[in-house]
Amino acid sequence: MTTAIYPGSFDPVTNGHLDIAHRAAALFDELIICVYDIPQKSLLFSTEERVDLMKKAVTDLPNVQVEPYSGLTVSFARRKKAKVIVRGLRMSSDFEREFEMALMNKKLEPGVELVCLMTSLEFQFLSATLLKEACQLGGDITNLVPPHVAAALEEKFRSAKK
Ligand code: ADP
Repeated sequence: MTTAIYPGSFDPVTNGHLDIAHRAAALFDELIICVYDIPQKSLLFSTEERVDLMKKAVTDLPNVQVEPYSGLTVSFARRKKAKVIVRGLRMSSDFEREFEMALMNKKLEPGVELVCLMTSLEFQFLSATLLKEACQLGGDITNLVPPHVAAALEEKFRSAKK
């Protein structure tokens, strides 16, 4: 049985993330989507909120679990007995970062392989950062995230305005 983990900040989960999650769930016996607790970037949603939004987004995938984690991704993979780390690749900028991280991870934990899935064309330009900017400025984001995520984003920005 092959277990894979799909790590990320998921602040919040987008349809681009979900495209990768669906495709990875079809490739591996078990997929653990792990939500990084304290990434080195500013966050809009708390860890608990990001985990909840992700859980609601993958209820249709029976072999997928969602968990928060902190510390090294490879240490989490080892604890979960996962042999594969899944990441999504958009443009060349993602590639350079993923390549660097993959080499470091391989040094730290040679038994874990990185599998990168290319983004689907329609999500090529979708990032959580751009999505948040667009939503904050009143843009229509309904085709970019599941409905419960759109509602959570609108609520966040509404309460920030008060
Ligand atoms: P991180 O902070 O680890 O980059 P993100 O939540 O931004 O976390 O992304 C998690 C993973 O999903 C990364 O591998 C990222 O490249 C990938 N990803 C993000 N957006 C998309 C998208 N639109 N299409 C495919 N993969 C994506």
